[in-house]
Amino acid sequence: MNEFALIQTYFNKAQHNKNVLVGIGDDCAVLEPPLGQALAVSIDTQLAGRHFPNDAAPDLIAARTLHCAVSDLAAMGAEPLWFTLALTLPASDSAWLERFSYGLFEAAENYRISLVGGDTTAGPLTISIQVHGGVPQHSKILRSGAKPGDGIFVTGPLGDGAAGLAVIQERIQVTEQAERYLKSRFYQPRARVRSGLLLRNVATACIDVSDGLLADLGHICKASDVAAVIDSSRLPLSSELSANVPTSQALEWALTGGDDYQLCFTADAEELEQLQKRVHSDELDVSCIGEIAEGKGIINRNTGGAYSLNSSGFKHFT
Ligand code: ADP
Ligand code: MG
Repeated sequence: MNEFALIQTYFNKAQHNKNVLVGIGDDCAVLEPPLGQALAVSIDTQLAGRHFPNDAAPDLIAARTLHCAVSDLAAMGAEPLWFTLALTLPASDSAWLERFSYGLFEAAENYRISLVGGDTTAGPLTISIQVHGGVPQHSKILRSGAKPGDGIFVTGPLGDGAAGLAVIQERIQVTEQAERYLKSRFYQPRARVRSGLLLRNVATACIDVSDGLLADLGHICKASDVAAVIDSSRLPLSSELSANVPTSQALEWALTGGDDYQLCFTADAEELEQLQKRVHSDELDVSCIGEIAEGKGIINRNTGGAYSLNSSGFKHFT
C-alpha cells in the first residue's frame, strides 16, 4: 500500500467537524478558531523503546500519544479542537495500522478532537501529535501565576503511571485487578480537560504532571518565583497502588514517577472551594497537598528540608 492509500484508508475518517474548512487531503488544513478564542498549540513525540515498550499494542500507543498531547491543552485551560499526526513507520503493516487507527480515533472521540492532517514517513517507529485547542485570551492558565498563600492541589491519584510501567515491564507483581487498572493508567491516561476548563479564572498556575510531581511543580515554582511547601502524607494514592507496593515506593512514584497526566495547580483555597460546590466531584476530584510560600524550591513540610530537584523527573540528553 502506498503512502496516499494508507492515509486514505486509515486516517481520513469521518469525525467531528469543529470549524474545519479544509481537512485531510490538501496541502494544508484550513481551520477557523472559535470566535473570541486564542489558539493553544503543543506537540508531543513518542518513540518506541523510549516512551513505550517496543512490542506495545498499536491501539494503546496511539491512544497514549493523543492522551499525553491533549494533557497539555488541559493544563492550559484550553478546549481540544484539532490535531495533526506525524507518523514514522518501519513498515506499512495493515493489521498494525488498522489497530493504530482504531485506538487513535477512539481516544479522539473522547475529547471531540479531530485529525486534520499529518505526515507519513518510513523509519524507526515514532509518533508525533500536535494538538490545537481554544482558550479565551484572558482565561489561559500559565505556570507563572502562583502566589504565596495559594494552596497547591492535584487532580486524581499520583504514582499510577510509574506503577503501570513497572507492571508492564514486570518489575512488580500485583493483583489481577490492580494490574488492569495500573496498565490502563499508563496507556490511557485520560487528560483532565474538563478540570482544566473548570479551573479557568480560578487556578493561578497549572501544569500537567508528566515528568513527576517534584519536577513539574518545580516548573511552577521557577516560573512564578515562589517556593512550595508540600506534605507527602497528603499525596493522593489509588488503593490499587497503596495496597500493592510498600508505602515508601508508592510515595516515591507519586513524587518523582511521571506519566500520571494529572493536573497540579495553585489556587486560593476558598475560591476553589466555591467552585467545587458548583460542580460534580468527578469533574474536579482534587487534593490539597501544600501551600505556596516565598522563596525557592520545594520544601518537605514534615522534615523542613528541601527536596532535591535535580534528582527528579525524566530528562532527555543527560
Ligand atoms: P505534502 O506532500 O503536501 O506535505 P502529504 O503527501 O504529506 O502532503 O499528505 C497528503 C495529505 O495527507 C495532507 O493533507 C496531509 O496533511 C495528510 N496526511 C499525511 N499523513 C497523514 C497522517 N498520518 N494522518 C493524517 N493525515 C495525514
Ligand atoms: Mg508531507
